[in-house]
Parts: sequence; C-alpha cells; structure tokens
Amino acid sequence: TFKTLKDLDKAHYLHPFTDLQEHKQKGGDIFSRAEHIYIYNSEGKQLLDGMSGLWCSNLGYSQPTINKAITQQLEVLPYYNSFFQCTHQLAVDMAKSLVEVTPPQFNKVFFTNSGSEANDTNIRLVHRYYNLLEKPNKKQIISRKNAYHGSTVAAGSLGGFNGMHEQYTGVNYVHHIAEPNWFGYDGELDRDAFGKHVAQELAAKIDELGEENVAAFIAEPIQGAAGVIVPPETYWPEISKICKERDILLILDEVICGFGRTGNWFAAETYNIEPDLLTFAKGVTNGYQPLGGVMVSDKVADVITCNEGEFTHGFTYSGHPLACAAGIATLDILKNEQVIEKGAADIMPYFQARLRSLEDHPIVGEVRGVGMLAALELVKNKSSKERLAPDCEGGAICKMHAIEHGLMVRSVGDAIVTAPPLICSREEIDLLITRLTIALDYTAKHYGI
Ligand code: PLP
Repeated sequence: TFKTLKDLDKAHYLHPFTDLQEHKQKGGDIFSRAEHIYIYNSEGKQLLDGMSGLWCSNLGYSQPTINKAITQQLEVLPYYNSFFQCTHQLAVDMAKSLVEVTPPQFNKVFFTNSGSEANDTNIRLVHRYYNLLEKPNKKQIISRKNAYHGSTVAAGSLGGFNGMHEQYTGVNYVHHIAEPNWFGYDGELDRDAFGKHVAQELAAKIDELGEENVAAFIAEPIQGAAGVIVPPETYWPEISKICKERDILLILDEVICGFGRTGNWFAAETYNIEPDLLTFAKGVTNGYQPLGGVMVSDKVADVITCNEGEFTHGFTYSGHPLACAAGIATLDILKNEQVIEKGAADIMPYFQARLRSLEDHPIVGEVRGVGMLAALELVKNKSSKERLAPDCEGGAICKMHAIEHGLMVRSVGDAIVTAPPLICSREEIDLLITRLTIALDYTAKHYGI
C-alpha cells in the first residue's frame, strides 16, 4: 500500500513537545523548504516565519556564506574532537569570535551541542567552582517559575514548567521563585515597585536556604518560552545587587536573547547585567548546525583553570568543526553587515511600533516586547483581563488562524508570541502585521467579540 509522507510521520516519528496521541491520529504539517524569511510546507503553502524557526534562524534561511563555510569544512576536516588537550582550528577560531562579541568579562568558552547541555554544563561549572574554593556546601541553584532552560533532566529541573516536572523526577537542588510577570500581577504596586518587589524574592529565597548553601541564580534576561516576559526596568538592577551582595553566581541564559534579538549583541547589554556565566545556542549558527555553550567569566575561569585536576565533562561533538564553521560564518555576517546595529536603528523600533498599533484591537490586552521579540496577550475583557477561554484555547485558536493565513507564530497560554528574523524589511513587517490582524479578527469573531 502507498504511504504518504504524512502517514510515515504519524507511524514512525515521535515529535518533541507534542501531544503524541493527537499526532498519531492527525499528524501535522511537514515543511519541505525555506527561502529568506518564508517557509513552505509539503503542499507548497508559504508562511512568513514569525518565529525564526525556534527563535534561532535570526538571519533567515538564505545565507549562502554559511552554507559554503559548512561544505568547505566538510572537505577539509568533517570531524575531530577537543578531548584530552587536542582540538582543531575551527573550534579555536570560533572561541575567539565569541570572545570578541560577548561582554568583556568573558574570555573563555565551553562548547556543547545545545542550550540544554550548556545549562547542564553551567551546573557542573558552578559546583566545581565552589568545590575548588572549598565551599562544597554551595550547591543550591535558584531559578524561576515558568522558565525554560532545556530538556535534559538537569536543565529541565532548572526550568519551571509544571507540565515538565510532572513527567519526571528532577535534581533536588533547584528552587523556583516568581518571574516578573507584570501582566499577571493584580496587586497595588506600580510597575517599577513591582519589579523590585519580585526581585526581592531572590533575596528571601537565598536567606531561607542560607547563603552558604546557594551557588547560583539562573534566568533569561527576557523569559522567552514563558511568553516573552519583559521585566520592569527596576528588576535586573535589583537582582544584580542581590547576587553581588550575597556572593552567588549569576547565570544568564541568552539562548533566545543572544546574538541581536533584543537590539544588542547580548541582552546583558540591553539590561546592563554582568553575568558570571552566559548560556548561548540557537542563533549562534543561525540554526544551521547544532551548537551551544557557556561563556565563562574571568572570575570563574581563574578558579577552574588555576587548580589541578580534570574537568570531567564534555561531549563527543563539543566544538564540532561543521557547527563551528556555521558559527564563525554567522558571527561574520552579524559583524560585517552590522545586522544588529542597523536592526536596532530601524527595523526593531518599526516592528515594536507596528505591534503597539494592535493595542486597540478588541481582544488584545497587552503588547510587550523588546527588539525583535514580542508577545500579545489575548483577553475577552481589556479591563478585567478575563481570558478568552479556559485551557489556553484562545491562543491556540489565534495561532491556527495565523497559520491558515500565512504566518507562523507561537501560542503560550493566551499569548501570541513572535520573534521574526532580524533581517526583515519594513514591507515584510507590514505583511506580518496584516496576517496577524486577520488572525486576531477571526479569533475575536470565534468568541463573538
Ligand atoms: N534555554 C532557553 C532560554 C531556551 O529557550 C532553550 C530552547 O528553547 C534552551 C535553553 C534549550 O536549548 P536546546 O533546545 O538547544 O537544548
């Protein structure tokens, strides 16, 4: 019997973050090619990719110099490793490229294949750091509710999604405090006071656990997968102060925010944060190859490189030559074409302003975002913030209409999230807004609004 691609997908492929029963029954969209900022499914339908893949193809899908860098490297040295003091040229070149673009305290990098492994690496690094400093009790790590830091058991434990924790037993040294979710707050404080107040949860948690037991705080500058939670301006200065005063390391997860997404190379600059460790992945290769890692500050590196003994951690593909080739080419484009500087001066403010124009739409309760990262919170009633429907149905319905009308976005609860490539033109942003407005109109109609 003839099996279509869709049948084979349903029969054999277990998709990540998917309702597997539903997928087995209904299957899903299969994408077969991409060009510039557009993706095409197997039936030839075109969608504007308002998510840059999974927040990673920041330069879109037509970057021939990245292709060439990968294929050239394939001919020269398709694989070699970096274990036991050996390595290869591209891993060294990539390390140098990263040091050049990351904040000045970072002069060393540890490579992984993914953001999840990079966050596992962070745990290994902070525990080793404090062991070497003869503070072995400093093991506890504080993270935030609704955070996403990856899917390995340890990275998933750092994350704060109940839906993930319900399915496995995580590590026992992670604690979660509230995220600075202004839209979800219905107390008396103004935005600035709320920012400080929610940051104070970190101080309280450190005091509860005992400073002598706490190793680090991990957070994204702007929480992405939680629905683009943009912190009040007062949040990060307070968090930074607390970490310094109480001698705990600050791990900044820039897997989504890094490489230009917020209008600077790193959101550490956007929010004036000085992390001790910085997680990267995704946009580092424009999504063309799997690559992640941790930028290690001089403070941490000085300890782990000035004491004898092996750091017993690493991956067969740490610093893979093809991933590094893609990474070097990606960083070269960002640098040479001044993608981030130009984007921050023009397309990013344009994107944010166009999105803000949707604040008047009857089902839009809030528009928030920075740079090329944004979310629209959907509501039934603007003043009471009543949800469109229970169980996040409103977001899912809106996303369905967006896809139907040629726009790929993501729904998180009742929010619609968008993070288009940094290389969009004004006309392309206009098209995104047009398609999004159609989706909002259909959603409003669906709920009789
Ligand atoms: N950290 C953040 C903030 C992420 O958004 C993600 C992935 O979406 C990860 C870590 C995990 O990265 P990966 O999927 O490459 O393991």
